[in-house]
Amino acid sequence: MKVDLIITGAGFSGVFCAAELARSGWNVLLLDSRPESELGKPYTSIMLDVDTFSKTGIARPQGDELLHLLDQFYAYSPSGRIKKPIDFSSLLVNGYLLLQRLLAQGKEHALKFVQAKVKAPLIENGAVVGVQTEDGQRFHAPLVIDASGTAQVLGLQLKAGGLALSHHPLTLETDYGLAYRRLCETGLPANELHIYFAVEGGYVWRSPNDIGLGLSYWLEKEEAEARLNHAIQTFDWKIGEVTAEAMGRVPVRYPLTNMVAPGFAAVGDAAFMINSVRGGGISAGLKGARILADVAHEVLSEKRYSQDRLWEYNLRYQREVGAQLAYQDAMRMILMNETSANMEFAFEKDIVTADDIRSSLGGKLLDFSPMQKLQKGLRGAANPGLLLRFNNKLHWAHDLFNHFKAYPETPLEYVQWEDHLHQIQEHLKQ
Ligand SMILES: Cc1cc2nc3c(=O)[nH]c(=O)nc-3n(C[C@H](O)[C@H](O)[C@H](O)COP(=O)(O)OP(=O)(O)OC[C@H]3O[C@@H](n4cnc5c(N)ncnc54)[C@H](O)[C@@H]3O)c2cc1C
Repeated sequence: MKVDLIITGAGFSGVFCAAELARSGWNVLLLDSRPESELGKPYTSIMLDVDTFSKTGIARPQGDELLHLLDQFYAYSPSGRIKKPIDFSSLLVNGYLLLQRLLAQGKEHALKFVQAKVKAPLIENGAVVGVQTEDGQRFHAPLVIDASGTAQVLGLQLKAGGLALSHHPLTLETDYGLAYRRLCETGLPANELHIYFAVEGGYVWRSPNDIGLGLSYWLEKEEAEARLNHAIQTFDWKIGEVTAEAMGRVPVRYPLTNMVAPGFAAVGDAAFMINSVRGGGISAGLKGARILADVAHEVLSEKRYSQDRLWEYNLRYQREVGAQLAYQDAMRMILMNETSANMEFAFEKDIVTADDIRSSLGGKLLDFSPMQKLQKGLRGAANPGLLLRFNNKLHWAHDLFNHFKAYPETPLEYVQWEDHLHQIQEHLKQ
């Protein structure tokens, strides 16, 4: 079968991108290993950035799709003793209904969905020209999108076919953390969200209808359960019956720095589009799908599928969204790599302020002015090592942000740009 465009993976990013391109009149084939009715199933309660809808053009959830507007947000120190109100809002949405709405909109415009497990990309003459499935089907298109989430089923196989997105490894084990969520009544008012920096390398949260654990590294299920249970006991959360639970890998890093090859693009978790402070990839992926749909529309109209032509997607995403995500990932490393004792001190002495947390969550640059540094220096004088580390890393976090904002215009300068990125990253990891 030959179509204009193949999208592998019908998660939020794949479905939205497919629906938008079908709406523009293209013949789009969407493939997923799961049946249509299951798509979006585990995500009956997801947290989304409020700007997701204005940035993507998706109509804001209403009725059953909108669970709560969380506009009272509190961050707690590791012991739970210090509580900071944060001026930051999110939406709690029924993700299953949202995804099914987007899919239905695509189908109104003749979007084709086929349930099939994709095995590998088809590569001919240095370009991706289609996919083959586990059951032996072959689908052809001049443009193929990998939206298969952390499976990265196409992206990871490009190298074997002679195409490489980067000369650095595409993914490392340390690029993944975990999210573990239990749906239950929690007794919190309908608009409140509480986050506790109570676990080294992560946090636990409580919203009106779920509790959960987010970590920058992987743990076996029993250990993740034990950490969440420990938090329930420590903070004396009174929770109701658990009606569902989910645990899975989430990327924790900056976005894939090159997301395109001839005839190919990656989006969503498959391109590490994630706000790694919160483990939220849906908003970042939908914004990516918006930009990719716009660029793909032009590429298909011009019938130019080269890496040079697709580069515009890299350029726009990295400058408009990637810089924020990379900065957030640096903030994750700053906030979550400290010991609990240091975090308690940082909360108590306002080395980590409510404004700092709000900025980190929203991807905005922290106030790093000499006056702020001086004030924090006075408040935190008892722990000079911590202050020095924070200041030093904040400096590199700003560099990282500016580096993404200066993403290269063409593939020619990319290798040099990427090498410099790795140098910045080494400083942040120290
Ligand atoms: C427990 C948990 C809670 C989370 N909560 C939130 C939250 O509240 N807010 C938020 O923003 N993010 C949350 N996340 C992260 C979020 O789920 C992901 O970032 C998001 O789903 C990524 O969307 P995507 O479209 O890129 O990929 P996915 O949603 O992972 O979709 C990928 C699709 O590809 C399909 N696929 C994979 N391999 C193949 C193959 N070989 N052939 C065919 N199809 C294939 C899969 O079946 C799947 O449907 C959570 C993650 C977890 C694990």
